Amino acid sequence: NKPIHIVGGGLAGSEAAWQIATRGVPVVLHEMRPNRGTEAHKTDGLAELVCSNSFRSDDAEANAVGVIHAEMRLAGSLVMRCADANQVPAGGALAVDREGFSAAVTKALSDHPLITIERSEVEGLPPEEWGPTIIATGPLTAPALADGIRRATGEDALAFFDAIAPIVHFDTIDLDKAWFQSRYDKVGPGGTGKDYINCPLDQETYERFIAALVEGDRAEFKDWEGTPYFDGCLPIEVMAERGPETLRHGPMKPMGLTDAHNPTVKPYAVVQLRQDNALGTLYNMVGFQTKLKYGEQAAIFRMIPGLENAEFARLGGLHRNTYLDSPRLLDGELRLKSMPRLRFAGQITGCEGYVESAAIGLLAGRLAAAESLGETHAPPPPTTAIGALLGHITGGHLAHEEEGGKRSFQPMNINFGLFPPLEPGAIVRPEGVKRFRGKDKSIAKKKALSARALRDFAAWLDGGNDHAVREAAE
Ligand code: FAD
Repeated sequence: NKPIHIVGGGLAGSEAAWQIATRGVPVVLHEMRPNRGTEAHKTDGLAELVCSNSFRSDDAEANAVGVIHAEMRLAGSLVMRCADANQVPAGGALAVDREGFSAAVTKALSDHPLITIERSEVEGLPPEEWGPTIIATGPLTAPALADGIRRATGEDALAFFDAIAPIVHFDTIDLDKAWFQSRYDKVGPGGTGKDYINCPLDQETYERFIAALVEGDRAEFKDWEGTPYFDGCLPIEVMAERGPETLRHGPMKPMGLTDAHNPTVKPYAVVQLRQDNALGTLYNMVGFQTKLKYGEQAAIFRMIPGLENAEFARLGGLHRNTYLDSPRLLDGELRLKSMPRLRFAGQITGCEGYVESAAIGLLAGRLAAAESLGETHAPPPPTTAIGALLGHITGGHLAHEEEGGKRSFQPMNINFGLFPPLEPGAIVRPEGVKRFRGKDKSIAKKKALSARALRDFAAWLDGGNDHAVREAAE
């Protein structure tokens, strides 16, 4: 068999290499370190963790990232095997000894007879004679390759910074205070005139809100990140700093909106939320990209009427991050539509985090191996955590008319908002409990989503040719 080339030996590339070689297909893994470094990596180890040493929650019963851990373990993941073997105490989280973890991944890949590791930078688009290639070069993809990708995909197709507005779980927005309405009731293509959720602020609340934004603690840019502020995408706190009226004339303008609960009182300012995924389970706060620290964000945004009990699927941020406009460019199996010999994996596809990147590496590896072996291997269903993440990357995101129909695609961690809603009756009350209290219903919902994901993932594996791999992993 011809080898599959993988560019980038980070979390995604390492996992993809393992998945491919486990299926008997040879791999050439190209990693530029130590010949060329990145601004964040410090070693020459494969799968280096550049910051925290945590893989986050390991709770597979009621936490979305814990469910991904469990799915990856079932699928014979090398990253999870090495993480489990190098665990350090961290309560309910899975944290690892970073050096031991990276050394274990490096050793497993170096020892595998079907894997060749080339320590050199791939400068530009991988050559055609390589045939099927996976690009997994991460948030700090080296500039020559980024340039090659941009030339192949178009000027707007590759972003170098993310500008993330907070995303809220729809069912935690208080619709007794907020209401659905598009500005001036405008009906766009596919719209209803009620496409936004609006949260009203009176003058006093607005002024307190602006003061909190200006005073809030900010995360600093690292020197090498530069300051990527560009017009139309300023952090909300930087706009607030320019003067108390700036936001009221910008993203918080109240024009063309009538408070459905209080039609005679004109709101002083309005925060708009817009549907973020096709399922309608997530809404993003329009224009609210921010560098405020996470703890500050939750507290400040809950000052907004209607968001007092908001649960955030993700908080806002701005980082150096090279990633593709994947919903537009990639097919359902992570291949570049215009050049299907190139498949993408890891954070460059628009997922975020060590675990998610490795999970997409796992999937890309399996799909590439199946293709090389002439087998069919459908992606996992959207009810699974990996399938839900794939849905975010390749399909679930919405195009918005006011952005010229472009998708405002931003990277995302796995979270339950990406999963399709449960079937009616799927949330079960524990025996003897007549009525859910407090957060019990939300926990029961998470449990039901987790159980469904793991059941469907196991069925997906069983439907493939995976018995040998699972037995080896066990
Ligand atoms: P990476 O792990 O970055 O791997 C990409 C690899 O490709 C690198 O080894 C790089 O050297 C190599 N490479 C790049 N270009 C080329 C080329 N042209 N030729 C050959 N090799 C190349 N996630 C978390 O979960 N927790 C955190 O605390 C966290 N902190 C972060 C802090 C910073 C500063 C950054 C930048 C990211 C952070 N992330 C964090 C995100 C995390 O880095 C990614 O989610 C994860 O590492 C992505 O995996 P990946 O395999 O896609 O990319």
